[in-house]
Amino acid sequence: MSPKQKRLLTRIIVALVIFFAIIIVEETGLLRAAFGSPGDVYAEFALFLIPYLIAGYDVIASAFRNLFRGHALDEDFLMTVATFGAFALVLFPHTEPHMAEGAAVMLFFQVGELFQSYAVDKSRKSIADMMDIAPEFANVMEEGKLKQVDPFELAPDDEFIVMPGERIPLDGVILTGDSQIDTAALTGESVPRTARPGDEVISGCVNLTGKLTVRATKPFEDSTVSRILELVENAAEKKARTENFITRFARVYTPIVVGVAAVLAIVPPLLFGGDWADWVLRGLTFLVVSCPCALVISVPLSFFGGIGGASRLGILVKGSNYLEALGSTETVVFDKTGTLTDGTFAVTELACAPGVTEAELVATAAAAEAFSTHPIAQSVRAYGDAMAKGERSGGDAMANGERSGGDAMANAERPAANVAPLAERVRDVREVSGQGVEAVVDGRGVLVGNGKLMAAHGVPFQATDAAGTVLYVAADGAFLGTIVIADTIKPTAAQAIADLHAAGVRKTVMLTGDRTDVAASVAARLGIDEVHAELLPQDKVAEVEKLLAATERDTRGKGKLAFVGDGINDAPVLTRADIGIAMGAMGSDAAIEAADIVLMNDNPDDIAKAIDVARRTMRIVWQNIIFALGIKFAVLVLAAFGIANMWMAVFADVGVAVIAILNAMRAMNVSRYEKR
Ligand code: ADP
Ligand code: MG
Repeated sequence: MSPKQKRLLTRIIVALVIFFAIIIVEETGLLRAAFGSPGDVYAEFALFLIPYLIAGYDVIASAFRNLFRGHALDEDFLMTVATFGAFALVLFPHTEPHMAEGAAVMLFFQVGELFQSYAVDKSRKSIADMMDIAPEFANVMEEGKLKQVDPFELAPDDEFIVMPGERIPLDGVILTGDSQIDTAALTGESVPRTARPGDEVISGCVNLTGKLTVRATKPFEDSTVSRILELVENAAEKKARTENFITRFARVYTPIVVGVAAVLAIVPPLLFGGDWADWVLRGLTFLVVSCPCALVISVPLSFFGGIGGASRLGILVKGSNYLEALGSTETVVFDKTGTLTDGTFAVTELACAPGVTEAELVATAAAAEAFSTHPIAQSVRAYGDAMAKGERSGGDAMANGERSGGDAMANAERPAANVAPLAERVRDVREVSGQGVEAVVDGRGVLVGNGKLMAAHGVPFQATDAAGTVLYVAADGAFLGTIVIADTIKPTAAQAIADLHAAGVRKTVMLTGDRTDVAASVAARLGIDEVHAELLPQDKVAEVEKLLAATERDTRGKGKLAFVGDGINDAPVLTRADIGIAMGAMGSDAAIEAADIVLMNDNPDDIAKAIDVARRTMRIVWQNIIFALGIKFAVLVLAAFGIANMWMAVFADVGVAVIAILNAMRAMNVSRYEKR
């Protein structure tokens, strides 16, 4: 509890004690004995003012301040008018006094306020805790001594040291040291990762066991931790439709109820000879109920909770609006490579054109792919490196025995890898999205990619129907051979599709730039409903537009379409979909920029969890809206008929707010997924 909240609590307790003391004094007839009648009523009036002012002096002050600023209908003002009114009924000495109610309304209003500010603080803090990933310092070596500096001061290529137990300040590559790294704060993944020299480390993770020397690869501003913090901080600004609706609703609701209150208090006594005290009291009861706080606080709090809960699972949602949209997802469209299939895959087959060795084929392809971030490129490079080190004979990679010159590798024909550095050998690299790469390697124009790329350059090539992703390699217009890569399906992909269907998603679709037969076999194994293959990035956009229109038509505008990609050449599609979900925030900058939701774990199964969290949040939001409005409406009706009094109104108001807030905080609870 903050000091401010503690002070308020003390005031409430003191006021409550005095309040009950007065009630006792009054009930035991002491007041009447001392002051007679109606003297006792005036004594009561004076006495109840004490707890009233102790509890509410700041509310009254702020009501007057707001009045002069032109915000007349805020809750402080409404409460002040209602309680002033209750006390003012002392002017009708022949009726029941209502000072106790006036004091009570203020007291319980403050109880509600305290509870609200505590709840909001707590949920805000818990997101901050969950996202407690901001590193405070970086250790650098200066003149043989370890010095702590602000992570902002480091630049790429600077070296820093991370001791066991410390948070990694910047994204970088390990130079020396072995350790275990806890990524839980970013990904929700509880099993630590092992880290060795050469491995990349992500800022915000905790170094667990060994001392590491790391070379920064990005400045602090661009490191993962900064980007994520920025994202979470901005999430509250993107409001859901429901949130905006409630704000607008509150703006009409309050004036209407206040208007009715005025009519109720004045018209019946004036025109129909009703009892002033009675009707004024009914009007005042209306004022107490006119406060929309239960809604205005609990709805954003629910969204806040949902976003916080999701981030604890490693699912970053960039705004309430996306959480809301996610709750009505009807169609989920996947990119294949890097999304449903693994980022790194194994080379399964090599086929060389006559006169070309496997070493030459792979080395040429690997060089051309040297600067690509595509998962395919990474696989080719990894295979090239392994070959160069002599770890692979080339032959063992070939599953189907389609070998040509395979034994050559075992002998001396390793590529001359240790000539000039790649940066000098490889020039004019151009990535053709959905087709492959073009580059000049050692002065030769090299192409690595699919049949489309070869056709586009008029290279005659030997098409193959091998199972897997096929890369054709050509140099200076001559075909060098084929590299076949196994497309390994992510272990959780099939479960992900099943869970989505179980969660009520009507249609799952896969879009890929890969060949039709590969795509069809992956889709069949995963249970995907619809598949479109051999698409260029722009074709994917067109395809998603068609699917958007279909979803809109089939669900009469209610259903939403989510596109899930890895951010590598699918950024346009991510932005076009209702909800863009990116995998691999740990790697791809494009993803975190273009996506609305980022899955830190690269796990497609998290989508179903995210949808579930979203739906639960929406359920809670609507429960609160219906519950709060229902009770308020009931009390208004009862008050109009003179059945409900201010006691009931204040209990209904504060009680509803407290229950709605407690309910909202349930949105944060995602423990059932954490155990899975
Ligand atoms: P997906 O749609 O499955 O994610 P992409 O659109 O990224 O796949 O790529 C489609 C196809 O384009 C790949 O299957 C491959 O044949 C070719 N391709 C794309 N990038 C590269 C690359 N860097 N090297 C070789 N081939 C590539
Ligand atoms: Mg892809």
